[in-house]
Amino acid sequence: MYHYVRNNEEYSYDTFCRRKNEFEAQVEYFRKSSEIVDPADLQKIKYYLKSDNQNAYLLTFDDGYKDHLYCANYLYNRNLKAYFFPPINALNGNILDVNAIHMIIGLRGIEIKTILKILTEVCMSSNFSLNLNNQRMNIKSYLDKFDIQDEYDERETIMLKRILQRDLMGDDNRRLVIDILIEKFIDKKSSDIASELYLNIQDLKIMKKMGMIFGSHGNTHKWLDTLNFDEQKEEIEQSFISLKKMNLIDVNEPKAMCYPFGGYDFNTIKLMNTLNLDLGFTTEIGPAKTIEGKEFIFKLPRWDTNHFWNNKWRRPCNVG
Ligand SMILES: [Zn+2]
Repeated sequence: MYHYVRNNEEYSYDTFCRRKNEFEAQVEYFRKSSEIVDPADLQKIKYYLKSDNQNAYLLTFDDGYKDHLYCANYLYNRNLKAYFFPPINALNGNILDVNAIHMIIGLRGIEIKTILKILTEVCMSSNFSLNLNNQRMNIKSYLDKFDIQDEYDERETIMLKRILQRDLMGDDNRRLVIDILIEKFIDKKSSDIASELYLNIQDLKIMKKMGMIFGSHGNTHKWLDTLNFDEQKEEIEQSFISLKKMNLIDVNEPKAMCYPFGGYDFNTIKLMNTLNLDLGFTTEIGPAKTIEGKEFIFKLPRWDTNHFWNNKWRRPCNVG
């Protein structure tokens, strides 16, 4: 599973990414240690899923970042293919909340404390409520009571992420706060940010010509497990309709769904069956190996390539 593949110094904010040369080193490592599977070859994917003593990698790229054009080109020159999952609304020039949050948190030279201070002012003046462990409270109590530990992030960073991703109540309120912060700290129009960040339809067509395969990452990149059956159906069906309209999916290709944020529930699995989809990718970490019942193919775990790297020796490593 790849997300950002870029050299951070070329941007005004830092992301958790693999650098381009690290991506290249990883691909070479995967290629030498194992087989990189053609995503269009469903038979082979199923073979490797069942096989206990054979290894293979299927490369997946989430979120439709412009970075992926470079990745597709690199793979194409080595006769390799991968799965790409662009969310439809990102193609339409909207910045996904998740990316707006990455930008705010990754801003260089601005302390998280400063961002939290402005966020506090907005929440206080607009009387916005937050939810912490199912308790409704104002921002000041939230900041006092927040005590979640995280392996990767400092307390203030994880707090800011949680507020902007989830804990600030009301989708519109949360989006409003994100927009205020973007406008305050990033001196660019949001449509310009989106066109720099995401692949456009021409890019996708070029990638398609290179033999890359596309799947759904939802229509609006929502947690599917927060939606009811009909809303989920709409998200999934609409995304496939759009991908087909752009001629990005051929009839004979496997139909894959990559759940935004890795979120799915029993309704999602029901829909995967009724819509005749072939593969479902989660964000659970691990090898997609043993077949635990028929539904396993809709709950495929993935390795995060951000973990597939040895920082001490600056080289790819095996996480398995
Ligand atoms: Zn995503």
